[in-house]
Amino acid sequence: MILPVIFAPFGASSVETSFSWQDKIIALDAGHGGTDLGAQYPPECADDGNPSDCKVYEKDVNLAVVYALKQKLEAAGANVVLTRECDENIARRKDRVDLAIEKCKSNFGRKCDVLVSVHHNGNIDITHDGTMVIYNEKQDIPLAEALLETLWPLTGNNEGLDHGGYGMTVYGHLISVITEAYYITNAQEALWYLDGTLMSVSDYDTGSTCDYQVRFGNRVEEEAQALYDGLFNYFNSSGDGGGNGGGKPDVPPGKNK
Ligand SMILES: [Zn+2]
Repeated sequence: MILPVIFAPFGASSVETSFSWQDKIIALDAGHGGTDLGAQYPPECADDGNPSDCKVYEKDVNLAVVYALKQKLEAAGANVVLTRECDENIARRKDRVDLAIEKCKSNFGRKCDVLVSVHHNGNIDITHDGTMVIYNEKQDIPLAEALLETLWPLTGNNEGLDHGGYGMTVYGHLISVITEAYYITNAQEALWYLDGTLMSVSDYDTGSTCDYQVRFGNRVEEEAQALYDGLFNYFNSSGDGGGNGGGKPDVPPGKNK
């Protein structure tokens, strides 16, 4: 007997898909870059002016996750643009949004549907881990909720939504969020990242010319899959902002990098 193929991306027996990835333009932003390292492991190892004390830079984890997510989205048929494509410095958040808007327009002829800025959090406590998603405008909340829902099982510690004054979404009226899937200052998270294979981005993604090396491994793939699932749920439930319910956003403790 030949069974029909049922698309079931996250464990459901069948999923009614109300959108097509081919119609979506997704901008991905790898946080930090160049001399802007982001959070570090061991925590604040570069603060003495000597970055060689560090084993992991947040900027590298962000770049690896963005490329892993790009591959999954493109395999599904989505249109993807990257703000930071390699290890370049992008000084201002407004520049990242401007880059996203320009590339969506020049590559695909219209505005991006969403912008997801991928970060990892920092804390001086190497045992602390958790997940949060940061939004700025009310229009960003459904996307923030959808991504938090699929990301937080990675750490088991839901630190909620943070209403941050990051200002990414005030430019270009682009729906955007910042994800902090876990703390890269956490010793276990750093080990999982370091377990990955060090390779040039251009070896991982043949469409890229970036020779900068980062690590690709299980933790990067798990996070990219969670982000993919969250984007799927967002587009599938709302398209442009119906959302999928959820409570009032929590305000988490601590600082974010
Ligand atoms: Zn960051």
